[in-house]
Amino acid sequence: MKGQMMHYPLTTNAIIEFGNRVFPHKEIITRLPDGSRHQYSFHDMYLRSKKLAHALVHQLNIQPGDKVASFAWNHYQHIELYYAIPGAGAVCHPLNIRLSADQVEYIVNHSEDKVIFIDATLVPFFEKIAALTPLVKWFILLNAPAGFVTTLPNTIQYETLLQNAADDFEWMEMDENDACAICYTSGTTGAPKAVVYSHRSVYLHAQVLITPNAANIGMWDKVLLVVPQFHVLGWGFPFVCVMAGADMILPSCHLQPATLIELMQQEKVTLATGVPTIWMGIYEVLKNNPSLQPITLKKYMVGGSALPISLIKAFDKDFSISGIHAWGMTETSPLVTASRLQPIHDSLSKEEQYKILAKQGIELPGAEVRIILEDGSVAPKDGVTAGELQVRGAWVIDGYYKVEDNSPYFSADGWFKTGDVATMDSNRYLQITDRTKDLIKSGGEWISSVALEVALMAHTAVSEACVIAIPDERWQERPLACVVLRKDADMQAQSFRELLLKDFAHYQVPDHFIAVPQIPKTSVGKFDKKELRRMYAAGELTS
Ligand code: ADP
Repeated sequence: MKGQMMHYPLTTNAIIEFGNRVFPHKEIITRLPDGSRHQYSFHDMYLRSKKLAHALVHQLNIQPGDKVASFAWNHYQHIELYYAIPGAGAVCHPLNIRLSADQVEYIVNHSEDKVIFIDATLVPFFEKIAALTPLVKWFILLNAPAGFVTTLPNTIQYETLLQNAADDFEWMEMDENDACAICYTSGTTGAPKAVVYSHRSVYLHAQVLITPNAANIGMWDKVLLVVPQFHVLGWGFPFVCVMAGADMILPSCHLQPATLIELMQQEKVTLATGVPTIWMGIYEVLKNNPSLQPITLKKYMVGGSALPISLIKAFDKDFSISGIHAWGMTETSPLVTASRLQPIHDSLSKEEQYKILAKQGIELPGAEVRIILEDGSVAPKDGVTAGELQVRGAWVIDGYYKVEDNSPYFSADGWFKTGDVATMDSNRYLQITDRTKDLIKSGGEWISSVALEVALMAHTAVSEACVIAIPDERWQERPLACVVLRKDADMQAQSFRELLLKDFAHYQVPDHFIAVPQIPKTSVGKFDKKELRRMYAAGELTS
């Protein structure tokens, strides 16, 4: 027997129609690249998105299924693109603006982007590769000052495009399983691969992200989107905010910690998103200038890399700001798990509670995780036994775009193999201990680099720590710790060692600690272990 419910496609069109119907007065505020403040309502965004969709179809001849790319910061026009491109039946492709020219050229050609919407400040980068991306028919210039000159071919000013368009465009009819957006993995561990999201997956993912067990967002919130829109669709927040009726605050290129703090203060931000390195920077500034604390900020959402327990504790103790630690990947839209305390944790000490919050958390409904050991069995839920993390769910990838044989990425029974190594405790809280490619195997024993990093970052002299495997004749591999020391702090290898010995066995503690001015970062702000290993091999890291 079939259910007797209406067919109501879950699409981004349904999201923007809802936002315009229920929350037309809600606001999107941008600090534009030139430093000026732009403010308008969801209703304004709706009308301009319709104009843009009209322009895509009638001026730029975009056909259903065409890929339309952006090469842009987080700002209001970029939000318009998120709704107009899928609304025109096309596929929204936010390009990672921090990749190398070779990688961007590869991705644009692989994706076969027809049009690129590009910020004027980023044009010089693209001018160098435009001749190598012949499938791109148009470059649409965003935020270009009057008299802006470029060698890019076939350019149109964004506002000129909109001026000539009608705002009564009827969104294209589509199936909820049609492609809505495409994102490439940032290539931390290999060549970028493409993940195609459906309207349905984007919709369901956003609905779950709103819930109390995840980000807990509502119409009283003002959300600062620090996570770039090119990084897994800004973790889905441009859709979440419209669904939740939360104001959106967009920083464009103004990503320095002090500027973000100022923006949080001025715009009364209640929640902000970002990778841990962003939050480490913000904490450093606040610690030195506590009077700058944005008093409305109650919580921050963190993912992309492990959130150190020391940071969770410091933000909570010093500023009463809670971290929501989440785990996910480009392949999983990204959110799969989030760590929040439950009543079962009430009786724990504050220290024990911080340990729970530092885990990657429990699954959200619609997604499932499991940990598989080398013999194929499911790991016990003991919080200790580590194995490969596998996932499945309504917003988890089914196969990479244009990859013929996807079998290496999936288990025989169809779960996605994440390449992450994790443990699970008796309450199903997941803890990521490493990525398969970053694991350190010393004398036959596995060592978790993430656990060492998190422990080192709790030392008062350390602001950042990254642990990599280095070759060793006797033990095959040994961990090497690279640390960024706090201002005025000295290298204290002995004290680092003593701290680690409290929680780690002798063989797990690095033999060497190297002070580095900074840890190299990937295009999305994670520690770049590939680069650190290269530097070590090239003799560029010395103690
Ligand atoms: P890339 O794979 O190019 O780094 P992604 O953003 O898709 O780009 O990265 C996903 C990976 O990031 C995960 O597989 C995991 O290794 C890591 N990751 C994400 N969130 C967390 C977290 N909360 N703690 C530890 N690692 C995380």
